Amino acid sequence: MTNIEWTDLTDNIIRVKDGGWWCRKISPGCAKCYSEKLNQNSFFGGNKRPYSGQPPELILDTKMIRKWGFQKNPRKHFVASMTDVFGEWVPRYWQQEMLDGMFVAPKQTFQILTKRPEIMLSTVNEWLDSHGLNTLPNNIWVGISIENRQTLEQRSSILAQIPAQVRFWSAEPLLEDLGEISQFLKDIHWIICGGESGPNSRPCHIEWIESIVQQCQAFHTSAFVKQVGANAYFQGQQFQTRDRKGGDISEFPEHIQIREFPNAIY
Ligand code: SF4
Repeated sequence: MTNIEWTDLTDNIIRVKDGGWWCRKISPGCAKCYSEKLNQNSFFGGNKRPYSGQPPELILDTKMIRKWGFQKNPRKHFVASMTDVFGEWVPRYWQQEMLDGMFVAPKQTFQILTKRPEIMLSTVNEWLDSHGLNTLPNNIWVGISIENRQTLEQRSSILAQIPAQVRFWSAEPLLEDLGEISQFLKDIHWIICGGESGPNSRPCHIEWIESIVQQCQAFHTSAFVKQVGANAYFQGQQFQTRDRKGGDISEFPEHIQIREFPNAIY
């Protein structure tokens, strides 16, 4: 199970052979990577390796993938929360095997997030070609993680090319005001946003979240405010919350107490 509010469970299908996980940092959003921190702790099953350098020996949990098709209760699965399943070090046939497993589990919903949408695009296209399909089924949601204007501009145009019925962004940790995003919202169904949590979190201004929510509302894009973060500001002042991550929705300013899911689906 998971404490991530926008999913039901996390399925970490890629792990390090001798335990724990691995990923490679790619942009400022990775600087205080929560997965790397967890991986530093052997109590939580980590291997203490940093998320940099060359990958250790990895395994794909094919058993977990095969189980998806037999699961009766519909749930939302955030796949590979501890790494980037579209990392350049991940064998393409693993990514294909993952999509195969999702395809034969139509009752389950799979949420895949990447900071490397160019690899996601080429793998999805290869997979669709090999199955004679034009688009991913609606139980496979594809998303990008973004943290600032630069990563938004780099990644969203590639996400928009992925033939999928549900596309989303996770704007967390939100590190600056994204500004005008309406030109990118066509065919984006869902935006998750939130400030950074954990020690020495970088600041998040609630006005940045407000701006995303308002633009989503104008475009009928679903918005999910996950957290204001551990170092939130509102109207120029520190915004204190009892919850350490600023993730208790009842503590948010009322107009951003919004946790929606993609319209056509939920
Ligand atoms: S891509 Fe995600 S899991 Fe990988 S280092 Fe960056 S934040 Fe961590």
